[in-house]
Amino acid sequence: MAFDLLITNAVLPDGRSGQAIAVSGERIVAIGPDVAGEAGQTIDAGGLLVAPPFVDCHFHMDATLSLGLPRLNQSGTLLEGIALWGELKPMLTHEAVIVRALRYCDLAVSQGLLAVRSHVDVCDDRLLAVEALLEVKRLVKPYLDLQLVAFPQDGYFRSPAAARNLERALDLGVDVVGGIPHFERTMEEGAASVKALCAIAAKRGLMIDLHCDESDDPLSRHIEVLAAETHRLGLGGRAAGSHLTSMHSMDSYYVSKLLPLIRESGLFAIANPLINITLQGRHDTYPKRRGLMRIPEMRALGIPVALGQDCVMDPWYGLGGADMLDVAHMAVHAVPMTSREAIRWAFEAVTSVPAAVMGLQDYGLAKGCNADFVLLQARDTIEAVRMRATRLAVIRRGKVIARTQPRQATLDLPDRPASLDPSSYAPKAAE
Ligand SMILES: [Zn+2]
Repeated sequence: MAFDLLITNAVLPDGRSGQAIAVSGERIVAIGPDVAGEAGQTIDAGGLLVAPPFVDCHFHMDATLSLGLPRLNQSGTLLEGIALWGELKPMLTHEAVIVRALRYCDLAVSQGLLAVRSHVDVCDDRLLAVEALLEVKRLVKPYLDLQLVAFPQDGYFRSPAAARNLERALDLGVDVVGGIPHFERTMEEGAASVKALCAIAAKRGLMIDLHCDESDDPLSRHIEVLAAETHRLGLGGRAAGSHLTSMHSMDSYYVSKLLPLIRESGLFAIANPLINITLQGRHDTYPKRRGLMRIPEMRALGIPVALGQDCVMDPWYGLGGADMLDVAHMAVHAVPMTSREAIRWAFEAVTSVPAAVMGLQDYGLAKGCNADFVLLQARDTIEAVRMRATRLAVIRRGKVIARTQPRQATLDLPDRPASLDPSSYAPKAAE
């Protein structure tokens, strides 16, 4: 049998080595140690990791790459970021949003990031960002799956036009219902917004993903309402709570009641470590809180937790580079969770878990799946996180769409090697 593409001598994320992956057309047709045959193109993975593409299930593509427009966030807080975005919004143009989003998607592809769930602000009556990102979604479809969330940034109730515009955005083809209950005027209105938004998702048969309790306030408990409504309306498996940073500061007895409720509801949880560690704790003197949800305790209960990027060079965060290994690396440090098992999990939390959050079809390394994968300059998933490894090749539907030269240093040292490959430092006896 002749294949279109054959990858040989690969290590898979589950640790199996010496594997070959055969592709015909846009699909994986065989995977295993004994797969061989003629192929139009063969790539020798050289004993390095081949993984399914990275997935970012929490992002803001309407704001990305706008850092400094119209000014910088001086306090570093979420609230100044929202105010700054409010100053920028009237100056946005359809074309400028598209240009920035497409540039971001180029960067994402180069980093093996081939699926993104982006919130898009619907509070502007023009729905300018919505229309621009729907256009971007169409343009990038051949190489990147973009899923859009109708996000009432200024509050579903607090912003006068948000409720109407959210429905308009969904009518235009935005995929997911969004919300921000902690930004409503009162706890009661926050809870009411969760209920109203869950009802919209149930009525329209859509997924829902709410920014929830993104604060250091231990009494911000909208996640409780979201879990209860998800349970009541049967939205489990298509509902997500994003951020949940107040959980970091909650009373531990209350959390012992809350986590089983989340588990029972079937909610996904999405932490955004780069942003949570920098936006939260800003009013603290010392010690400064980390602001991440309680990931180890949630995992122990079987709650599916994904890691998102949230922001890249925008009013909330001046750094970032479409690198989901950066996100996993930060989670390992900021939580902290440094066991070998937890670092392996952090890799899943930027690949297979967010793919489930987004409901991606035919994702993964198995016969019949889309031929989408990334060759990394790393021996396994822990090494990939440790080094935030170079993406040597990015394959979409069986075609190589991005390549990066391997990192390789040359040395000029007495009695030492002349060159250095960072992936050769993989520990031999760590397991
Ligand atoms: Zn967000």
